[in-house]
Amino acid sequence: MKTHTKLLLALVLGIVGGVALHPYAADENFLWVSNNIFAPTGQIFLRLIFMIVVPMVFCGLILGVSELTSHHGLGKVVKKTLFYTLIASSLSVVVGITLVNIVKPGVGLNIDKEALKSPNADVEKISNNATSAKSAVQSLVEIIPKNPLDSAVRALDGEMLSLMFFALFFGIALALTKKGEGSIFGILEQIYAACMYIVDQAMKLAPFAVFALVFNTSFKFGHSILISLFYYVLVVVGALLIQQFVVYSALLKFIAKISPLKFFKDCSDVYLYAFATASSNATLPRSLETAEQTLKLPPEVSRFVLTVGSTANQNGTALFEGITVLFLAQVYGIELTIANQITVVLMSILAGVGTAGVPGGSLPLIMILLKQMGIPAEGMGIILGVDRFLDMCRTTINVSGDLVIAALVSKDAKEA
Ligand code: ASP
Repeated sequence: MKTHTKLLLALVLGIVGGVALHPYAADENFLWVSNNIFAPTGQIFLRLIFMIVVPMVFCGLILGVSELTSHHGLGKVVKKTLFYTLIASSLSVVVGITLVNIVKPGVGLNIDKEALKSPNADVEKISNNATSAKSAVQSLVEIIPKNPLDSAVRALDGEMLSLMFFALFFGIALALTKKGEGSIFGILEQIYAACMYIVDQAMKLAPFAVFALVFNTSFKFGHSILISLFYYVLVVVGALLIQQFVVYSALLKFIAKISPLKFFKDCSDVYLYAFATASSNATLPRSLETAEQTLKLPPEVSRFVLTVGSTANQNGTALFEGITVLFLAQVYGIELTIANQITVVLMSILAGVGTAGVPGGSLPLIMILLKQMGIPAEGMGIILGVDRFLDMCRTTINVSGDLVIAALVSKDAKEA
């Protein structure tokens, strides 16, 4: 059986099995299996991948950026990447905001707003993270790390951008000060190749891990939570599908001049993987492999675009944030003017850049957006139950967007 078929089967079995057994979610025996067999299986797999994310990001960025510097293509690739990232993110937020304004899923939603005010540990935790957030200027300054080793240690806790900054700068410096043959680049190539090898080995566990991760989510939440927030979930999923099949298809067909269907098919393993892990960072090794080996994109371009994109280009997240803020405004009956909505669009685009590529990475940023727009932050409690499912969906689009941008930039690089 092909890997792709196995992953798909694992996904379907996980969802069906989890939902079917959800009525037993409180049963001790079932809980034991869920906590002691399925949860560790998923964790082992995720940890094997997370284990190589830092060396892979570091080496991949240095190799990509130094290659580009040596061939004088860096400036162009950076500009193109920024340009397409901005276009893809803006389109995604506009799609989301338009849909939420048409369907208005929050209007008339029967939710006990008083009950939401009672203390909710999850909401409080997210809120605390959000209030400790720094000002925009300070956040920009702190992208430059004081100590790159410290950023590497905390890379998966929101310090990834700083690590990337260091790798980018260091890669340029290495290329410009290159001394003779047999340099450090050979060593970095070797580390990178070893990381790829580990990904290949870990992938053997993937079907079991995908089953375990998806099973546990649906086992815990069942489908009841989906019913009460049906329209909200529908709007988010609908907008994500429009982004994938209309916006990305058009960009691929008319700008990159490649068949969207073939492209999506070639990337399908990566999508499944992003869906199951709900983490762009955990999916990065797999996207890098697919870009180089299946899509045959030039490695110096794809390594740069995908690595930076896994943290900085999150179209699905930007779209989701826009929809969620407007949805909660509708639930609370808060009228947002056009100017307010434009602010939401701009802030959602920025939030997509600042979101860590880990499960639930966007939640603290939604909190900041809600506070900014004067919407009660405890409203987060409404969406937390469905968040894991929506996280899986938006992460798929985040990763898909990175691959689309890599294809667009590669096309321009080949023509130059
Ligand atoms: N889980 C998402 C990702 O890794 C981030 C988020 O939207 O929470 O891309």
